[in-house]
Amino acid sequence: MSFEVYKFGGASVASAAGVRNLINVLKETDNQDLIIVVSAMGKMTNALERVIAAYFESKDLCAEALQPVIEYHFALAGELFENPAAPVFKRLQSLFDELRGFLNRNKSPDYDFVYDQIVGYGELLSTTIVNAYLQEQGLGSILHDVREYIKTDASYREGKVNWELTMRNLSRNLPKSGIQLMQGFIGSDANGFTTTLGREGSDYTAAIIAYCLNAKQVTIWKDVPGVLSADPRYFENAVLLKFISYQEAIELAFYGASVIHPKTLQPLQRKEIPLYVRSFNDCKASGTQVSLGKTIEPEVPCYILKTSQVLLELASLDFSFMAEENIGDIFKLLGTYKMKVDLIQNSAISFSVCIDNKYKNLDTLVAKLRADFKVTVHQDVSLYTLRHATDESIKVLELNKQILLKQVAQNTVQLVTV
Ligand code: ADP
Ligand code: ASP
Ligand code: MG
Repeated sequence: MSFEVYKFGGASVASAAGVRNLINVLKETDNQDLIIVVSAMGKMTNALERVIAAYFESKDLCAEALQPVIEYHFALAGELFENPAAPVFKRLQSLFDELRGFLNRNKSPDYDFVYDQIVGYGELLSTTIVNAYLQEQGLGSILHDVREYIKTDASYREGKVNWELTMRNLSRNLPKSGIQLMQGFIGSDANGFTTTLGREGSDYTAAIIAYCLNAKQVTIWKDVPGVLSADPRYFENAVLLKFISYQEAIELAFYGASVIHPKTLQPLQRKEIPLYVRSFNDCKASGTQVSLGKTIEPEVPCYILKTSQVLLELASLDFSFMAEENIGDIFKLLGTYKMKVDLIQNSAISFSVCIDNKYKNLDTLVAKLRADFKVTVHQDVSLYTLRHATDESIKVLELNKQILLKQVAQNTVQLVTV
């Protein structure tokens, strides 16, 4: 049985037209046996994050923050289904009732736990709508709750996959023919509580499923023609990469090319399952292929930008050198406060680290570090990474920038700028 995995992200299903276009992609590509992974619609995960923040403030604020989420989904479904008695509206209603039920009942003060119980409704709502529409259009999909298949530990907001159990669940219980639809981003722990795989984790869901079931290939449908030599939001003249190796894709994603979630690639590489990144607006175009082979085609410099990073410069308080012991302590703290380390540089008396303050723990971390080090904090810096650098491309990158730190390794140049 050779089936494929498709993943549609938030941008592809941000409107009723997007959902209609999803059907168009399915019809045009005409695959009979498909597992389709869908994320939350548009910016609904961000909206649900606001609900969570409000929940920890007050009941009224929480209800207020939930209102736009309710309205968005009902309005979108209302455009797709003319009949107000269509069963989809009842299903949406019961998901919102369930969500409100959790908010009323919950006693846990654990932010990360509560986050995961709420934020995944974005995916549950989107797949409910998409499935109803696929069925109405005669595509006969079956909707599954991915939490019954993807099992993780209880690390809320960054669940670690239990591969053995997940593989067993998927291979035993998921039909391998026809169209199977499920949510990206979420899983569940041993107690059945919802967990999430980290923001933007739906690409990873597609890879987990493909790995566990030996899929023929995975296609992630995006709002760009494929993986480009730079994010077109920030750089002009980005070109389409027709082919990149797994290794190159891992590097690009790791440095912050957010078109592919970094965890997506290794499971696929392990089983040599090709990944395609294609445009949902131009589904005939071939996009980018990621598989075994040549590093990059065409061979062009690739630019990656991560904004809103933090650069910490640390020096010892007693004029001693920054040695293994100090650095070990620093890394322990970075781990404790879940800081993603982008880049490090050390000299005899100072240690610089560029981090992603993803979980907003910076103030606590800095307070702890100040007990032992002199700490200089540069907030809101940008991290540029240039791969396959040439003299010319380095010049272009450095132009008009105030550079705080520069690092060169082989053909990769990184700059931290104000
Ligand atoms: P979705 O969540 O809908 O699956 P994302 O928004 O996560 O999709 O990813 C697509 C976006 O990734 C593009 O709109 C683009 O701005 C951004 N992006 C960042 N780096 C690149 C790159 N190298 N090539 C293409 N797109 C990129
Ligand atoms: N909806 C989730 C997010 O926005 C997962 C994803 O889109 O991949 O982070
Ligand atoms: Mg996304």
